[in-house]
Amino acid sequence: MTERLSVFGTGYLGATHAAGMAELGHEVIGVDVDAAKIERLSRGEVPFFEPGLPELLRKHVESGRLRFTTDAAEAAEFADIHFIGVGTPQVKNGYGADMTYVDAVIDTLAPMLTRPAVILGKSTVPVGTAARLAQKVRELAPVGDEAQLGWNPEFLREGFAVEDTLRPDRLVLGVDPKNPGRIEEVTRRVYAQALERETPFVVTDLATAELVKVSANAFLATKISFINAVAEVCDATGADVLDLADAIGHDERIGRKFLGAGLGFGGGCLPKDIRAFMARAGELGVDQALTFLREVDTVNLRRRQHVVDLAERQVGGSLRGARIAVLGAAFKPNSDDVRDSPALDVAGQLHLRGAEVRVHDPEAMDNARAVWPTLHFADTPAQAVQDADLVIVATEWREFRDLDPVATGAAVTHKRVIDGRNCLPAQAWIDAGWSYRGMGRLSS
Ligand code: NAD
Repeated sequence: MTERLSVFGTGYLGATHAAGMAELGHEVIGVDVDAAKIERLSRGEVPFFEPGLPELLRKHVESGRLRFTTDAAEAAEFADIHFIGVGTPQVKNGYGADMTYVDAVIDTLAPMLTRPAVILGKSTVPVGTAARLAQKVRELAPVGDEAQLGWNPEFLREGFAVEDTLRPDRLVLGVDPKNPGRIEEVTRRVYAQALERETPFVVTDLATAELVKVSANAFLATKISFINAVAEVCDATGADVLDLADAIGHDERIGRKFLGAGLGFGGGCLPKDIRAFMARAGELGVDQALTFLREVDTVNLRRRQHVVDLAERQVGGSLRGARIAVLGAAFKPNSDDVRDSPALDVAGQLHLRGAEVRVHDPEAMDNARAVWPTLHFADTPAQAVQDADLVIVATEWREFRDLDPVATGAAVTHKRVIDGRNCLPAQAWIDAGWSYRGMGRLSS
């Protein structure tokens, strides 16, 4: 059944969700306060890199099932179901999440709801937010109790966002058990196709739904920092963290995924979500429960420092004037997202310590330049490595993994490579005469 939906916030999450919902057969209007973004989306252009999304967006802008506006009133008039996908970044002066944008959507939208409507929050928010907003909606909406709010956290992964939106591994819906209204029934209609495929659908109270999202991210962050902590011990003993991860990963209680030792996690989600989770636990008086996440964060940030220090040693003790190619700026491959990116952080720190840094990334150059305009950006990997004293692979893009160590060796001044993602075929690089340093493994 076709529903009329709006999606507030058309960033990585919202634009993908809007296009995905149109693909599922719904009529969708995307709303954003960023007029330039809306203009581009209206032309069928995705303002960021996400594989498969440009095709999907164009298809549905052309089919007329998907349009975009800066006018919230147009969305309130058009849609019966409103998704919230605006940002919840870390506050400037602390660890908590900045709820300004989510609150602004409710403050704008709720007073326009003159007929029954369901609002589904997708943004990642501190536990307790949804209950507060549900109350606010009831108070502000002219239609009163017929404006109902549930929370439907989003688990998409950048780089796989289209697939994750069209075929999610699970759906989670939080509703107030004392005031369930029509929220579950409406949500089931929106996701009818996924539910027909027997996608797990967990319906729970509001607080649990909010906690599911931050707990999932806290767990993933912990797993990455766990293997990175072990990598530090491997470095101190000559053990090999790749073999170790393979061996422990065979235990199905542990699993191999997210046990990639390297430069650690970044992006617009994991770092700020674990910090907001800690901040919220503090407000709730249970800060001790999440003290370990502080260590998870510290281990993670130490990876970046480790690579900078290693680079300094590799180039002979001083970074001043050293020519370093940093391959990668995005926080992970198949994304142009540089928010809290370990790769860009390393490039920036090397630059501040006097190195002559040349950065190349297949997709994230514009975003990286906006954050670090003083870095030098090379148009190709070949230009980045030309005459380099050291090459650092900081994001595991396929084109870096596939670099030819012989040809690359002919271009550099010194054949030294730091494999910040343990993604290169190490032996091939060593055989080509390179001094190779992995993360928690192999040095030659
Ligand atoms: P983003 O910064 O890419 O997009 C946020 C968008 O909201 C921007 O385009 C901004 O202009 C817009 N916006 C701000 N205020 C607005 C308002 N009042 N009305 C309409 N639009 C407004 O952020 P994102 O990465 O898409 O993340 C959005 C939320 O989704 C965050 O809570 C994030 O934690 C969560 N999330 C993101 C991902 C991901 O992979 N990016 C995955 C799961 C959950």
